Amino acid sequence: MELSRDTHWIDNAPARPSGSGTVTLTNPSTGQVIGTAVDGSATDVDAAVRSANRALRDPAWRDLGPAERAALLRGLADALDRRGAELAELVSTQNGMPIKMVRWGNVGGSSASYRYFADLAEQQIVEDERATPYSRTRVRREPVGTVGIIAPWNGPQILVAWKLGPALAVGCTAVIKPAEETSLDAFVLAEAVAEAGFPPGVVNVVTGGRDTGAALVAHRGVHKVAFTGSTAAGRAIAEVCGSQLKPATLELGGKSAAIVLDDADLDAFGKAVTRICAPNSGQVCYSCTRVLAPRGSYDAVVDAVVAGMRTARLGDALFETTNFGPLVSARQRTRVEDYVDLGSSEGADLVLGGSRPAGLDRGFFVMPTVFRGVDNSMRIAREEIFGPVLVVIAYDGDDEAVAIANDSDYGLGGSVFTADPERGLGIARRVETGSIGINTYEPTLDAPFGGVKGSGLGRELGPEGLEAYVEYKSIYNAPAM
Ligand code: NAD
Repeated sequence: MELSRDTHWIDNAPARPSGSGTVTLTNPSTGQVIGTAVDGSATDVDAAVRSANRALRDPAWRDLGPAERAALLRGLADALDRRGAELAELVSTQNGMPIKMVRWGNVGGSSASYRYFADLAEQQIVEDERATPYSRTRVRREPVGTVGIIAPWNGPQILVAWKLGPALAVGCTAVIKPAEETSLDAFVLAEAVAEAGFPPGVVNVVTGGRDTGAALVAHRGVHKVAFTGSTAAGRAIAEVCGSQLKPATLELGGKSAAIVLDDADLDAFGKAVTRICAPNSGQVCYSCTRVLAPRGSYDAVVDAVVAGMRTARLGDALFETTNFGPLVSARQRTRVEDYVDLGSSEGADLVLGGSRPAGLDRGFFVMPTVFRGVDNSMRIAREEIFGPVLVVIAYDGDDEAVAIANDSDYGLGGSVFTADPERGLGIARRVETGSIGINTYEPTLDAPFGGVKGSGLGRELGPEGLEAYVEYKSIYNAPAM
């Protein structure tokens, strides 16, 4: 397992950077520096984009049909599976996600995504003729071009797969800019791409920080941006894309609600709390960090949330027993601790956690944390904390539950807990969000995923996720005489 890289990846090979800047990589479970990666310059970005633009026009890639691209995608999935153990350990070491979660969600989920998009590629109709009494127009689906893919650290493989899979399925080329915290695993993906037989330049990797990402977004040779990250960065990216009239898919932050109805099985809800409300210690965009509880059973819901959060097994992310890892960085831990202080100063009642766990003083750990007595107007109820901090908010009646869920700057995920799935469906239909679960929450490959309001623009996954990488061309024919 390589823990330092001094190159980028261009044309299916390591590429020397133009400068000497580096980013430092830290293991969040131990707080120890593990290595470095290159902090890419605008010159490095330019070299990668030029390579991707060349590959776009090269017959070796351009002239492949959907079935040939599908075969390459399946080869990529196989090559990733062969590297599964290495990849999982690398991701977990860099971002502190529990290894079991990485294996299942990040690594297994990625190869499943490439296979899913291979299937969709095969079903793609590249051209169809619309023959009517008035015209014979041929409609072509063409790749949007070179895609700039920018990913966050929390799901470094899966969040690339949701973009790269559809991009490759329709014939695009890509330049990937991973998050600086997780710079290394992108190279394992790049090696798998080369091993699978994709022509040089189809997938390139440039590592670095925010400036590297900004250079990629601004490059005129990038025809579309696919971004997952914070709402603030998404807005900055949207402005640049807007000025260039370049399409962008933006998957951003969230403050989703778990609506617990008065008929819900609280025992089952409590067992689901860490998975749905605080997965990866709350560092997942769709975490349902606002728990909405009927006023009549408020205490019982708080007890269920606390009992659920108490089941968290904190520890080194590489331990098989850990299901609650550290926060990604010291900076993120400080941010979470500041929000805990803010919650108390806003008048909320801290009933669990809020401090650092005893015996885990090397990494960036924070105890699972629960606030009760929270009003939806408080900042801890409105702002994305991105840590293991849940707030329980009381409501009176289903209408008020929906109103509170919708009173948010975000709209990404959500869930409804109820003994009556039909009643749950009625509530789910009224929540302003991109996706919502009934007694569950889990994005599925075959359905669009994304957000409304401050949670983003556009959708990934499902056939809709493929559409985001297609341009249409209409070829008119002279009517038959
Ligand atoms: P971030 O926005 O700081 O960084 C994400 C990536 O964008 C990094 O690669 C970073 O280098 C790059 N970047 C930052 N500013 C940029 C700019 N102006 N131009 C181009 N690139 C730029 O986010 P983060 O702190 O790394 O990740 C956490 C955030 O991601 C949270 O807000 C979370 O909700 C969100 N997220 C959303 C989803 C989703 O699907 N909606 C999934 C996971 C994470």
